[in-house]
Amino acid sequence: MVDARMAMPFDNSFARLPDRFFAAARPLRSPSPQLIELNERLASDLGIDAAWLRSAEGLDVLSGHTIAEGSEPIAQAYAGHQFGNFVPQLGDGRAILLGEVMDGQGRRRDIQLKGAGRTAFSRGGDGRAALGPVLREYLVSETMAALGVPTTRALAAVTTGEPVARETLLPGAMLTRVASSHIRVGTFQYFASRGDVEAIRVLADHVIARHHPSAAVSQNRYRSLLDAVISAQADLVARWLLVGFIHGVMNTDNVSVAGETIDYGPCAFMDVYDPSTVFSSIDRAGRYAYGNQPRIAQWNLTRFAETLLPLLDGGQEAAIEQAQDALAAFGDIFERAYFGGLRRKVGLAIEEDGDVELINSLLTRMTANQVDFTLFFRALGRAVEGDDEPARALFIDPTAFDAWADDWRLRLDRERQDAGDRRAHMDTVNPALIPRNHQVEAMIAAAVSDADFAPFRRMLDVLSRPYDEQLTAEDLAQPPLPHERVAATFCGT
Ligand code: AMP
Ligand code: MG
Repeated sequence: MVDARMAMPFDNSFARLPDRFFAAARPLRSPSPQLIELNERLASDLGIDAAWLRSAEGLDVLSGHTIAEGSEPIAQAYAGHQFGNFVPQLGDGRAILLGEVMDGQGRRRDIQLKGAGRTAFSRGGDGRAALGPVLREYLVSETMAALGVPTTRALAAVTTGEPVARETLLPGAMLTRVASSHIRVGTFQYFASRGDVEAIRVLADHVIARHHPSAAVSQNRYRSLLDAVISAQADLVARWLLVGFIHGVMNTDNVSVAGETIDYGPCAFMDVYDPSTVFSSIDRAGRYAYGNQPRIAQWNLTRFAETLLPLLDGGQEAAIEQAQDALAAFGDIFERAYFGGLRRKVGLAIEEDGDVELINSLLTRMTANQVDFTLFFRALGRAVEGDDEPARALFIDPTAFDAWADDWRLRLDRERQDAGDRRAHMDTVNPALIPRNHQVEAMIAAAVSDADFAPFRRMLDVLSRPYDEQLTAEDLAQPPLPHERVAATFCGT
């Protein structure tokens, strides 16, 4: 028997920050909750007994029915630029922070209940979550983790037994998610827009201690914080691009200062390589298109830098200069991560002049030939071993591949590496499987219409090993047929 008081060993640092950082909250009780999925490995990494979480007592916590011993449920305050327009007060309107635990590696992790009902920040919203978005977030965030991309995690999903009203009535659900923290660029903006410099300093010190401790020993700690957040975001967005991920709603309130992917809404993975790809139904202008993500990240980081100006040394002019210096580094950090990753994707280990041109020439040809991003890079590993057909057959005009492959092989020849080793290495960076959007939609439809969670569980299992060729999951590796293509993804708030 696990002692319930020790089941989740909370230690809540955010709740000890000044009162104006949050509002107390009480999760909504679900009338007849049922566990959809429990992430036992994550539970054990967090030092939480999975058997206890699965028990009636655990389910009560995961469905908002009881507040675990040591939990201090709060809704965090934040602001944010939504599609470029500043909203001075957003905040956790449908998520409640239950508290923080220290994981097995001594890292502090937030445990948050999403879809837990109204809070002081809910405005007109009902604070609830529909089943579809909960399943999408669970599956996509866990896949991102398996792909090696920094992300929030999914600990559990439950159905509430209560419908939520969207365009139609939909089954309600709650997601328990885990993050290094849920502190956002928008958290800083909340205080900046109120002229509350003292709060910005307290928040910055909290974030330094929690996420960027090396800044604490720097001469100019807040400049170091800015550098660290810029670097983490540049690296994150590069990783998104390298696996074809489109976040969909890169508003400043959805940008984590810990550098994790956060707030999965109408996100999707790209099938055919095209930088202008947009899935989100609310992104009509394509602001958050696949290829715009680096530019938007830099825009968001500029908003972050603005909030830190009062903390930077040497008066306003010097502060602006420091912020500009820090932001100017974004491009180089991003490009190093992005082209470094692409170089590995095409099988190159060493950096040489001309690599960027070689890679860009490939990408241009892929767009013109409507080439599937994931299938192509995986197939390129076979081309290394002499079988070009799977890669070239993905091009409308396969000779566009052949012409590029001539240059690519000349370049490969300048690096001595056994073809088998090279391919094996490529297979560790080029996933065989991603959550294909049409399959995610079909998985959600099965759960919502038929309460059939088998497709969800299968995708979750298969996508926990995205770099492995899985003979029994060939269907999940396939891009959509023309009639299966999903044009728009809805966030369902
Ligand atoms: P998101 O689209 O998840 O990034 O949310 C943007 C803002 O809207 C945040 O402040 C959320 O808390 C709030 N919000 C989204 N959905 C709801 C909802 N169903 N009820 C209340 N607030 C919501
Ligand atoms: Mg959000």
